[in-house]
Order: sequence, then structure tokens, then C-alpha cells
Amino acid sequence: MKFLQDLTYEETADMISNMGMPKYRADQFFRWISRGAAYEEMSNIPRCLKDAFISQGYLDRPIRIIRKLHSKLDGTIKFLYALQDGNVIEGVLMKYKYGNTLCVSTQVGCRMNCAFCASGLDGLVRNLTAGEILGQIIAVNADGGEGCVGNVVLMGSGEPLDNYENTVRFLTNVSDPHGLNISKRGVSLSTCGLCDKIRRLCDDGFTPTLTISLHAPTDDIRRKIMPIANRYGVNEVIEAAKYYFNVTKRRVIIEYSLIDGINDSDECARELATLVKGFPCHVNLIALNSVKERALNGTAPRGVNNFKKRLEDLKVSVTLRRSMGSDIDGACGQLRRKFLKAGEEQ
Ligand code: SAH
Repeated sequence: MKFLQDLTYEETADMISNMGMPKYRADQFFRWISRGAAYEEMSNIPRCLKDAFISQGYLDRPIRIIRKLHSKLDGTIKFLYALQDGNVIEGVLMKYKYGNTLCVSTQVGCRMNCAFCASGLDGLVRNLTAGEILGQIIAVNADGGEGCVGNVVLMGSGEPLDNYENTVRFLTNVSDPHGLNISKRGVSLSTCGLCDKIRRLCDDGFTPTLTISLHAPTDDIRRKIMPIANRYGVNEVIEAAKYYFNVTKRRVIIEYSLIDGINDSDECARELATLVKGFPCHVNLIALNSVKERALNGTAPRGVNNFKKRLEDLKVSVTLRRSMGSDIDGACGQLRRKFLKAGEEQ
């Protein structure tokens, strides 16, 4: 299946110019596409222009919201979306003082199979197209009002760099001034650390804020919880992060979810500090959000604060993230899973 939102502005404009139509038509059409309008709603677009795209198989709406859950704790909203082929994905809108951030999925399921994550429990179902990734923002903007989504994090289900082509096409489209025009500084990409793709991303000229899910300071510990650690060692991951920083001049964020008894010892804090010594990155700590199917628990608040203090003493730049939407299955893949399970039980 292909969608209007898969096309870049340049591609759309080329097709329209090849039809012999003026450039302002491309601008008008691209604006409608970025708002998720149906063909019949595009009132100022000539029929023949729409027909040309329809006859090439471009669908107008990649995604629709099928369920919305509001957190009573922090105003977070969790969305469940249906794709055109019946697959279901999820997203989270987090409200911060400086605006709303939407957490976006890049794949249905995931191949990475991290031991603590619900997204990989059934493996990868399929990649999302660029339009389906963009479509999540468009659907939430349509629901909450234009401009509702100010920042975007590619931290939902899936590994964005395992879906490289569609992800970079999405990055091009999301910041296009003819369309959603979300500031490049407002877009973050989170990866479990596919080192060759991290280098390729910045070599190809893309500069989202890079977040690396490290979660362990040594290869031994990391291999226990993240199969990708068998492919790339922690030193290679840090080297790729340094390369990214040197090319983009943008500070990299190291994600570290604290898991009880696995990666939360004082020694782990010391090893982590040594690993990032001299590299101006920032460490984001969060206590693991327990997933029913995975026999791992988050570190208790005392242990979390202790770990943070250890890092601070060792001069590591660190913040503790609040776990948002925990009353509505906020963590990756949890809501989709519940939805699919409920379907099986019916
Ligand atoms: N595949 C990408 C992005 C998706 S996951 C990545 O690995 O970064 C987004 C973040 O949530 C990652 O840091 C991931 O490791 C973390 N995460 C997944 N499940 C979690 C859970 N149950 N509790 C806390 N963090 C979790």
C-alpha cells in the first residue's frame, strides 16, 4: 500500500509540474496531505490532479485513531491507531510545559527482542512506510487541533534504524516547511545502537537528537538484556555516538532503564561513568516499567536515586525521567499487546 504522505514535497511537486500545472498547486496539495485531508475534502484542487494520484494508487489517509486513553496522573494520552491493512500500532502524547511531544512508532512489532520490552514479544510484523509514521502526527493533530504536536520522538514500537529508508524519508517530510514544519531540533530518534546506521544517518545529512538505549555499561550485562549487544560492543556504540556528535555537533543522550538486580549496582554506575568519560553526552535514567510477560522489575526509588547520585559524584550529566502514563500502559508496546490479547480472548 502507498500513501500520499509517503511522498516528499519535491516528488509531489515534480509529478504536478509534469502534468503541466503551476507550482502553487503543489503547495496547496502538499498542505492538504499534511493535514490528512481526504481527496474529496481538498476543495481547491482540480479533479484531474487528484485523479492522477488516485490512478497511481496513492491512498489519502494512512491511519486512524481507534482508541484514546487519558492518564489521570499526568495528562498523558495514549492512542491506539489502525493501519489500512488492519494492523494496530500505538503512540503517546506527553504534555510538558514547553509543549506536546508525540512518541511515534516506526514498525509494527520489532526484531530487536530486548528482554524488557513488550514491542518485540511477537517479533517484527512489518515496517511502517514514511507516510504511516507521519500519519501518526497528522492523526493526533487532527484530533487535538493543528500544531498540537510540537515535538516528536521516534521512541514508540520498532527500531527506527532497522527501517532506515522510511525513517529518513519521514525525517525529511516532518520538517518540510511546506508541510508539518516541525523544527529539526524538535525531533529525536532513539536506537538500540545499530552502529553502522548511526554513522550513515549523519553522513546522509540527518541531524535529529540521537538517543541511544544503552541500558548497561558492559558487554556481559548488555548481552543478557539486549540481543543486539552480540553484534556491537558497548565501546563500538560509544564510538558511533562520538562520531555522530562530531559530525552533527549535537549532544547525544544515553538512555538507561534501571532494572532491579541487573544494571543498577554502584559498580555499574562507576563503569558507566568510565565508559562516557570525556564524552559530552547526557544520561537519562528511568526505572524500568515492568511488563507482565517479562520477568524483570524496575529498580525501587531509593536505588534509582542512589544510582543517580553515584553518577553525579562522578561528574556525569544525568537526569531522572518521570515515567509517564504508567496507569495507561505507557511503555513501548504495552497497550497494543493488551488490545491484541483482548481480541484473542473474545
Ligand atoms: N528501538 C528504539 C526505540 C524504541 S524503545 C530503541 O531501542 O531505542 C524506546 C525506549 O524505551 C528505549 O530506550 C527502550 O529501551 C525503552 N524501553 C522499552 N521497554 C521499556 C520498559 N518496559 N521500561 C522502560 N523503558 C523501556
